[in-house]
Amino acid sequence: MQTIWAPWRITYILGEKEQGCFLCQKARQVEHDEENFVLCRKTHAFVLMNVYPYNNGHLMIAPYAHVSSLTELHHDQLEDMFRLAQLCESVLTLVMQPEGFNIGINLGKVAGAGVEDHLHLHIVPRWNGDTNYMTTIADTRIIPQQLEETCELLRSGFLLEQKER
Ligand SMILES: [Zn+2]
Repeated sequence: MQTIWAPWRITYILGEKEQGCFLCQKARQVEHDEENFVLCRKTHAFVLMNVYPYNNGHLMIAPYAHVSSLTELHHDQLEDMFRLAQLCESVLTLVMQPEGFNIGINLGKVAGAGVEDHLHLHIVPRWNGDTNYMTTIADTRIIPQQLEETCELLRSGFLLEQKER
């Protein structure tokens, strides 16, 4: 695989790995949603931006519960995750007009899970002409817009879409 300069990932690759589970940490730090790039919360699950994204607007949906498989989730947790997925689709469509989405869960390290014991649903907006999903997984995407800028746009999108529901 060709190596492409992807400066936003270097802090992740070289940085000290946070102690404990970062999804549990962000789930707990309700008062730090802004700096944690948390965009939306429901009773059992929340949405946050992937700060090491494979494409601009890459979101993640995680249950608050620290579980590693779908079979461990109860009905309300599943429902909140998929209602959030629906909301993410509308917000991303509104704000970024993608032409498609990759929506998926990597279960286990062999499947590409970066955080293997706290499952999360990836929502990756796609545009005609960007690279295919397997290439994006190889950490080679260039993000044209700053993460903070995108976050601000998406945050207002979530406020708008939630008001309408
Ligand atoms: Zn966790």
